[in-house]
Amino acid sequence: MDTKVHKLIIIGSGPAGLTAAIYAARAELSPLLLAGVSYGGQLMLTSDVGNFPGFVEDIKGPVLMERMLAQAKRFGAETLLDDVTAVDFSGDTKKVIAGAKEYQAEAVIIATGASAKWLGLPSEERLRGRGVSACANCDAFFFKGKDVIVVGGGDTALEDATVLTKFASSVTVVVRRDVLKASKIMQKRATENPKIKFVWDSAVAEILGDEAVTGARIKNLKTGAETDLPVQGVFMAIGHEPNTKFLAGSGVELDEKGYVKIFSGSRTNIDGVFVSGDVHDHVYRQAITAAGAGAAAAIDAERWLMHH
Ligand code: NDP
Repeated sequence: MDTKVHKLIIIGSGPAGLTAAIYAARAELSPLLLAGVSYGGQLMLTSDVGNFPGFVEDIKGPVLMERMLAQAKRFGAETLLDDVTAVDFSGDTKKVIAGAKEYQAEAVIIATGASAKWLGLPSEERLRGRGVSACANCDAFFFKGKDVIVVGGGDTALEDATVLTKFASSVTVVVRRDVLKASKIMQKRATENPKIKFVWDSAVAEILGDEAVTGARIKNLKTGAETDLPVQGVFMAIGHEPNTKFLAGSGVELDEKGYVKIFSGSRTNIDGVFVSGDVHDHVYRQAITAAGAGAAAAIDAERWLMHH
């Protein structure tokens, strides 16, 4: 157990957590950043970031995160690369367990982000990074002239399919129902794109290939018939899930999808516990919106600490 009571603990180290750390460190709160074993969040899986203001040229996602981390450290944020496994927010002093050690703080910012959902097939796991991806924006470039499938029927699936048509020869969207969940405008854009076709009422039963993806076994969910489709890429776009397992039993209120609820500004239902980034926001999900939310949470935490 670490006997020191920190002013502020920040959990998570994507753009939200790191921006919160920069702001809190500059406000002389000496934040403890529990960054997680694989720090940096979803941008670590991204290649080029072209829409982060201030970077005229593309910047690599991991480089952007390294710079944010270095900036937070420069202002005095203490960083530990441990995963938070549990919290206890029942008392005035909040307790956070990370790497089998207990840390204490007056205030906490939750910024643990969200992760892409996967189908859960062993072949998907084995071929991840070898043709299986959950980030079209990151990896589309590697599928020049190839045939790919996208799994899902929401806005992400259709946006990913559209992005992929810039590189791939053909994009087949595999939808488990006979309707799309995506917005009308995205549907219109995708259905009018001659490179995109749809396979309805179907699921990916298996991803084929030893060293790299060579195909996908598509199962018609109505007839049970299976067809092997020769493709070199399989992109998952079946939604994200917030990283909130460690909050089980903490009393932090989550919405029906498991995202942390905000009550006012960046406040959760628990006094002194704030939230920012994709662990709360399932609508915008951008590096810049997460960073903005991280700044807001640090300001809210600073003001709250001043009055407590
Ligand atoms: P959604 O939850 O909206 O959609 C997920 C899709 O994946 C659904 O079609 C769902 O099917 C399907 N799906 C879920 N699990 C499985 C599975 N195991 N096997 C096969 N298919 C599955 O997630 P999105 O990531 O698409 O969107 C998240 C949010 O982000 C939404 O609010 C969306 O509007 C927003 N967004 C907006 C964009 C934009 O406006 N430009 C771009 C991207 C996202 P079913 O329909 O049967 O449930």
